[in-house]
Parts: sequence; structure tokens; C-alpha cells
Amino acid sequence: MTDKVAGPDGSALSEGLGPLVDELAKLARQQHYYCEDSWYTCPAHPEGTANEFKERGVCDCGADKHNAAVEALRERIAAALKGPSV
Ligand SMILES: [Zn+2]
Repeated sequence: MTDKVAGPDGSALSEGLGPLVDELAKLARQQHYYCEDSWYTCPAHPEGTANEFKERGVCDCGADKHNAAVEALRERIAAALKGPSV
């Protein structure tokens, strides 16, 4: 029988932290840079850039790199919450 409130191994707490980490990761995600003068807008922004010298769809504002780091951290925390794999 499992006690949902507090397992001796702290599993109940771990299950409760998962959604919080997901929420934190959601808040940490960055949007691509947008400027009213779309020449400066990041090519990966949904509205795109007017700068034809930039490669279409390729982020140059750092958001992709930042979000990849956020995702990597989220996955590491999620794995840690699951505990050591047996
Ligand atoms: Zn970008």
C-alpha cells in the first residue's frame, strides 16, 4: 500500500516537484528577439526578419541556445527527481 502524502523515500515530494519544474522551465524560455524595425528581428521569430543577409529561420538572438540550456536543465532535474535508475 502506498501512502500518497509522504512515502519514506520521499517519492510523494518528488512527484509533486515535477510540475513545478515544468512550470519553471516554461517561464525560463525566451522568445526570439523582435524589433519594430524588422531588419533587426531574429530570423527564427514567427514574423521573421527583413534582413535578406540573414539565413531564414536560423536564430541569431541567442534564444535557441538559451532554451536548449533550459531544456537540458529541466531534463536533468526530472531525471534526478525520478531517483537513481535501478
Ligand atoms: Zn532567435
